[in-house]
Amino acid sequence: MSDPIVQRPGLLVVVSSPSGAGKTTLCHRLMGEFRDLNFSVSYTTRKKRRGEEEAVDYRFVEDATFDQMVACQEFAEWAEVHGHRYGTPVAAVRQALEGGQDVLFDIDYQGGRQIKAKFMNEAVLVFVLPPSLEELERRLCQRNTDDAATIERRLHKAHDELKQYGLYDYLIVNDDLNTAYDRLRAIYLAAQCTIERTGHIAERLVKESERG
Ligand code: ADP
Ligand code: 5GP
Repeated sequence: MSDPIVQRPGLLVVVSSPSGAGKTTLCHRLMGEFRDLNFSVSYTTRKKRRGEEEAVDYRFVEDATFDQMVACQEFAEWAEVHGHRYGTPVAAVRQALEGGQDVLFDIDYQGGRQIKAKFMNEAVLVFVLPPSLEELERRLCQRNTDDAATIERRLHKAHDELKQYGLYDYLIVNDDLNTAYDRLRAIYLAAQCTIERTGHIAERLVKESERG
């Protein structure tokens, strides 16, 4: 039997957090479970980190290429984060809105703000919090992907990022990973069933019952 919920416009799932709070870990897990959920691969001017793959984690481009893409309006949103630029390709949003595909966006609050302003009814915004600032620092160090100066900069920026929580629909404290993940998946499933997204199914039944 086909699931009527599947016959709905795609959902834009935005997940943001201060760097190191664990949003990449949570997003990977969500995509591992929900195979139909597509990840929006952003463009960035930052250098590739150890273990990252071109076109899987990001599309790594030079400043000039990024400039050109901005000029040609190829981004649904873009922002400068930690001294580098990051942008969401318009195609990822189109895939959701026109292709009925759910798309996951791992973007910062500036991107979240732009997506919310443009696609309020199509997006659900989730903000991931660390259990404490000490734990945030510990995770950034333990991840072992950034030098001490970069970690310092990211921790400093966490203050600005944390202040943006009010923009989001849901907050998740990522203390115990399994608990945080259960909450993220619950939010994702619930967002698929909001009245805005499923009202048309009820409407169809109402019309059918009028005819009958
Ligand atoms: P972000 O994408 O928000 O920058 P990551 O997902 O890269 O963060 O997580 C930062 C580090 O913290 C990684 O080493 C990750 O394995 C670890 N981590 C993530 N969630 C937890 C958790 N709940 N408890 C302990 N460590 C975690
Ligand atoms: P990182 O360099 O650690 O991969 O990412 C740094 C920050 O940039 C994270 O907060 C991440 O969510 C954000 N980011 C990644 N891609 C995009 C994007 O396309 N747009 C915006 N606005 N932020 C992004």
